[in-house]
Amino acid sequence: MGHSHALSGVVGGMAVAAAVQDREIFGVTFELGPGEIIAGSLVCAGAALLPDVDHRSATVTKTYGKVTEILSDMLNFLFGGHRMGTHSFFFAALMGTLVTLLALWSDLAVQIFVFLLVGIALQGLGFGLDKNRAASGIINALGTAAITLTLYATGTDYSWLGMAVAFGVILHFFGDMATKMGVPIFWPLYRKRVGQGGFATDGPFEKKVVTPLLTVAVVLGSVYLFDWPEILPDHT
Ligand SMILES: [Zn+2]
Repeated sequence: MGHSHALSGVVGGMAVAAAVQDREIFGVTFELGPGEIIAGSLVCAGAALLPDVDHRSATVTKTYGKVTEILSDMLNFLFGGHRMGTHSFFFAALMGTLVTLLALWSDLAVQIFVFLLVGIALQGLGFGLDKNRAASGIINALGTAAITLTLYATGTDYSWLGMAVAFGVILHFFGDMATKMGVPIFWPLYRKRVGQGGFATDGPFEKKVVTPLLTVAVVLGSVYLFDWPEILPDHT
């Protein structure tokens, strides 16, 4: 299900960007350039994969080999197994707070974190899922490096990073709620799983309806959000 989570993260990130663009919220006027919009969408996509770090075979766990596997075992233990603590508002708030603190602490840490998260996002979006794992790993790494270096070179502002991570994590819950398992969003206060929809994970509905719809939404979002005449210089 990693693919759908990542795609819904991109769509969610774009939707929020469209909603806040040129508005003043809590005294901050949002003027998101292409860098912020792309970074925001990919950060949401990566964050939308984070809750499944409690599962051994999840996309996010596989992304950085042994490092993420050990992290997965630790988080699985700390948060009480698969689809438990990492699927709660507590985890979303925790991640948002940690990332905000990280951003206050060091600019370099932010760049590294964005790099790692974009890598997870690309892996989830499908760049790492081909049969030739070595080749796809290299393409994924090059793509991640190219994107993060471009974002860095264009001076992308990351003041929103913590909020975007928390939002991406919460988006994951809605995706999971559509399946039969439900999500314990009020963990650890209340451990019952909320929202048990009728769709099977990786079933035909997800592959034939959800994925194409999300893909169309990404294309429409890109057409709407970006100031194309300004991005594409006049070559005539
Ligand atoms: Zn999940």
